[in-house]
Amino acid sequence: MLKSPYHGGHLEVIVGPMFSGKSEELIRRVTRAVIARQHVQVYKPALDDRYHAAAVASHAGRTVDAVAVRSAADIRAHLTGENALLVGELPPLPDVIGIDEVQFLDADVVGLALALADQGVRVILAGLDLDFRAEPFGFMPGLLARAESVEKLTAICTVCGAPATRSQRLIGGQPARFDDPVVLVGAQESYEARCRVHHVVLDSA
Ligand code: ADP
Repeated sequence: MLKSPYHGGHLEVIVGPMFSGKSEELIRRVTRAVIARQHVQVYKPALDDRYHAAAVASHAGRTVDAVAVRSAADIRAHLTGENALLVGELPPLPDVIGIDEVQFLDADVVGLALALADQGVRVILAGLDLDFRAEPFGFMPGLLARAESVEKLTAICTVCGAPATRSQRLIGGQPARFDDPVVLVGAQESYEARCRVHHVVLDSA
């Protein structure tokens, strides 16, 4: 029996705490593909309720064009083209699809990423593996397990300079509590990269 040709589709995941360079690494991989004249499409979660042109930006200021989306379904709609049903044919899939901050999309993005990889797309996802409590972030463990390649990046601990694997959440300068909501309306909050020793989560109130 003849082997079918290798189509190159696979899933790459880039994880680590805030400031570990996930966006930088996604931008680096995507830019190389663009230079090699591959067809590349990048997505990121939208803060508002429509998808629109946007950019993925690293904390150091590098950017790459992206489309802001609210959901995995938005990505599917954007890929198939909103007029595809009228025209009757689907546009070809990109060679490479990147998604930044993937942990903020819905869990359907896991199935979408796998389906795209099955169809020959190189899928590159960047996101937080842990939340501010250092608990696994939503559906991320399932993505990591299913990926062909996982790169776990570290930042630098702002207290001691050790490799930082965790995102310290501070509210009014104090460590957040375990049961604090993920979004605290009106609270002045910030994040720092911290190592295991200097990452602090206060007990529930
Ligand atoms: P991520 O997407 O993981 O949040 P980015 O790619 O946006 O990370 O930003 C990484 C950049 O953040 C670094 O190159 C550096 O300029 C900056 N940075 C700020 N704080 C730190 C830190 N504590 N450790 C490492 N880099 C940091």
